[in-house]
Amino acid sequence: MTPEITFIDTLVVGAGQAGVAMSEHLTRLDIPHIVLEKNRIAEAWRTGRWDSLVANGPAWHDRFPGMEFSGISPDGFVPKERVADYMEAYASRFNAPIRTGVEVRRVDRNIGKPGFRVETSAGVFEARHLVVATGPFQCPAIPSIAPQTAELTQLHSAHYRNPAQLPDGAVMIVGAGSSGVQIAEELNRAGKEVYLSVGPHDRPPRSYRGRDFCWWLGVLGLWDKATTEPGKEHVTIAVSGANGGHTVDFRKLAEEGVRLVGRTKRFANGVVEFENDLAQNIVRGDENYLSLLDAADEWVTRNGQDLPEEPQARIIRPAPACMTSPELQLNLAANNITTIIWATGFTSDYRWLNVNACDAQGKPQHQRGVSSEPGVYFLGLPWLSRRGSSFIWGVWHDAKYIADQIAIQRNYLTWQ
Ligand SMILES: Cc1cc2nc3c(=O)[nH]c(=O)nc-3n(C[C@H](O)[C@H](O)[C@H](O)COP(=O)(O)OP(=O)(O)OC[C@H]3O[C@@H](n4cnc5c(N)ncnc54)[C@H](O)[C@@H]3O)c2cc1C
Repeated sequence: MTPEITFIDTLVVGAGQAGVAMSEHLTRLDIPHIVLEKNRIAEAWRTGRWDSLVANGPAWHDRFPGMEFSGISPDGFVPKERVADYMEAYASRFNAPIRTGVEVRRVDRNIGKPGFRVETSAGVFEARHLVVATGPFQCPAIPSIAPQTAELTQLHSAHYRNPAQLPDGAVMIVGAGSSGVQIAEELNRAGKEVYLSVGPHDRPPRSYRGRDFCWWLGVLGLWDKATTEPGKEHVTIAVSGANGGHTVDFRKLAEEGVRLVGRTKRFANGVVEFENDLAQNIVRGDENYLSLLDAADEWVTRNGQDLPEEPQARIIRPAPACMTSPELQLNLAANNITTIIWATGFTSDYRWLNVNACDAQGKPQHQRGVSSEPGVYFLGLPWLSRRGSSFIWGVWHDAKYIADQIAIQRNYLTWQ
């Protein structure tokens, strides 16, 4: 018996913020579509992150243009569950055709006719266009240096929930981007002994001259930058909206008792070794911080804006002992380290996408989300079109562009 096939013009895979934004723009252009989501709408914001997480940007910024967060001050930082609620409410405003609990398992190009055959947990679909909105951060990545021992509890930041979840003893966190830093602060506050392995990072001021850094990145055109600076591809960004939001300052973190070390090099015989690069990483982070203040000051002067001066923001704290006499190795047992949290980022898995949209390494090949396989589009990837592409507000603008590209193709196909 041939399986029943559902035909649709455009199929969107994933109903996180990217899938919701895509659906809004397709709806506006009257493009028939279905969004398939294997879990729930915005699942990553419900179960994919730690309990206390709030958005890194203020409520006025980290949202779609058409709807504000209700019951939250525009300058506040929205708790993760409220972000998920927002996405659900947003989708219901235009009756987004989202089917939850449906996993897309395989996509093949049709032979002898346009479009794609899509196998799912709820049957087969055929679509002319396919938008892959399965997220920028899919598979937790733990580097191969992770020690193979049952004596340590090891988890990725994606599986960290709260301090009570961890066994007694000290915690080592590898990676000091926004996740690693925020988890380190939370565990330190909870009275844990915390070691934090710090690599190259940017650390914008939370606010300067009365404006949040999200605003500064906007007026300075930095959210819209199309590519990262050469050599900065692996530089993470350390920001925090936790506890009302504050600038991430590694010198202050050390004063508060977090034991900072350089990049983690290797584990052998119960000893972990670090690169001797902590001071350099912190100094470069400070330079990045100060460069944003400089750019902001220049902008104020050039535009004659009346924003209050803030000279105290330029005061850099003295170098803590971990910078002047760094620890280059630690015996895990002797320092009672019982847990390692890998805040080391994510990879992606597109093996289900059996079309010519990825390179030999499985990386999406695309220009502004238009992939090398005609009819297949990516959305929500870091730097898809600009720095803001993987963030809530940025993905909305990319979705608009992709919807336009689909509309253009539809016009060609219907031309008589
Ligand atoms: C810790 C953390 C904090 C962040 N904080 C912020 C912030 O404060 N502000 C901000 O703007 N951004 C933030 N981001 C970045 C970004 O906004 C989020 O990662 C966001 O979840 C990305 O949305 P998305 O829709 O692109 O992907 P996701 O939210 O990951 O959604 C993808 C969806 O696709 C579904 N899916 C995957 N595969 C399939 C399949 N085969 N079939 C069907 N469905 C499938 C998944 O279930 C998922 O629901 C943060 C990211 C992280 C990791």
